[in-house]
Amino acid sequence: MPKSLIPELRGQLQQELQQLREDIFSYLQRDHADEFSHLLLQLEHQALSHWPELLRHWLTPELEQKSRKLELVQAALSQMDMGLYGLCSDCEARIERELLQQDPARQRCARCERQLHENKSRALC
Ligand SMILES: [Zn+2]
Repeated sequence: MPKSLIPELRGQLQQELQQLREDIFSYLQRDHADEFSHLLLQLEHQALSHWPELLRHWLTPELEQKSRKLELVQAALSQMDMGLYGLCSDCEARIERELLQQDPARQRCARCERQLHENKSRALC
């Protein structure tokens, strides 16, 4: 991973994090304010890194998707801090630069991602 790309991708990830935070809040407030009022209070007082754990108890398909993404984005940011960013979580090869620019939170190289999907669709048959 060329060092020069990191600050740009970090900026993208932080923006995504803010966006997810807002999305989750507006989702809970818009459609589920009564049901989730307690959860909303908890979220307001917790660091983002605790959100996926809090949201786990309340998952609807929308929340599940956002919460997963939140975890991925945070994982990518902490990998940057540890200098491990951009390595495939399956084979540890470097993830292709263009792929990271499209989705800075991705965790797999093109080959492993493809394999994962093939295995999934095979499991469905
Ligand atoms: Zn891989």
